[in-house]
Amino acid sequence: RVKADGRGSFHRYTDSLHYDSVRELTIETRLRKAIKDQAFQVKYQPKIELKSGRLIGFEALLRWHDKVSGLVVSPVEFIPVAERLGLIGTLGEWVLEAVCRDLLYWHECGYEIVPVAVNISVQQLMKGDLATTVRRIVRNTGVQASWLELEVTESCFIPEQADRIADILHALRMQGVNISIDDFGTGYSSLSYLRRLPLDALKIDRTFVTDVAHNADDARLASTIIAMAKGMGLKVVAEGIENKEQLSFLQRHGCHEGQGFMFAKAEPAKQVSQWLSEHWNPFEALDLQGGN
Ligand code: C2E
Ligand code: MG
Ligand code: MG
Ligand code: MG
Repeated sequence: RVKADGRGSFHRYTDSLHYDSVRELTIETRLRKAIKDQAFQVKYQPKIELKSGRLIGFEALLRWHDKVSGLVVSPVEFIPVAERLGLIGTLGEWVLEAVCRDLLYWHECGYEIVPVAVNISVQQLMKGDLATTVRRIVRNTGVQASWLELEVTESCFIPEQADRIADILHALRMQGVNISIDDFGTGYSSLSYLRRLPLDALKIDRTFVTDVAHNADDARLASTIIAMAKGMGLKVVAEGIENKEQLSFLQRHGCHEGQGFMFAKAEPAKQVSQWLSEHWNPFEALDLQGGN
């Protein structure tokens, strides 16, 4: 029995190791090629003011159209690989440039611009020249820095690097770029740490929003984060709003902004033009009242 088990698990183990390394290898080769071929697309998910349903911003979400498999690969899968391979700098710059080009286009169409939030990975932030990169891209494309917002996940905040991170964020904020903490509640940042950072908003992680209307722990957590953010003078944004129960809980607790499939999923730039041109308000289509 022992032998059979040992043998069985040994085989399973090597099989999965083999599988993983082969998968990583192909994803690496394909990712390098995709960066060369620019096989990426930025999609935009609307951010909604929860009192009014007004469209007040977008989050830029990266998509990889993999030609080999014909599938769209999730950033959850390829961003960590890009980081490990040292490709995140190149990829991140491409995203910033693509967003700025789109912003300029919307501006030239005469639409009233709402800010676009771009996700920044730890390594991209820690490279230290992110402020310079952003300044260059903003200048070259001719957009206003205040049209950009950067989202940094809470898990980035390695205590040993606190001073450096604060410096980098300050340099960015000095240019007029807004800074949000993404996936708030999933990391370990202390209040004293957060207080030292130049922040504009906290984004409540989707995992707390999912059951907010039915799970007392999540409800307490979400309402505490909202109260805390307000106490710190920050804007609060809820991610992953999918239904009316979640929405009305967040409205009742005074959460400022939200995004989620209930309103819209991320769509290509063309759809953004449409939304901007018609002053789209999802509350009208959903037949909703404002929060108060
Ligand atoms: P995130 O920044 O927390 O983005 C929110 C994710 O939740 C997005 O997944 C979005 O499509 C999804 N989402 C939005 N509303 C709902 C909803 O109502 N229900 C559900 N179930 N999901 C919802 P996505 O686009 O797959 O992105 C995953 C993560 O990948 C992002 O999490 C972000 O951390 C990262 N990411 C995306 N684009 C970039 C990028 O350009 N650069 C970097 N460094 N990271 C990126
Ligand atoms: Mg984000
Ligand atoms: Mg998030
Ligand atoms: Mg999240």
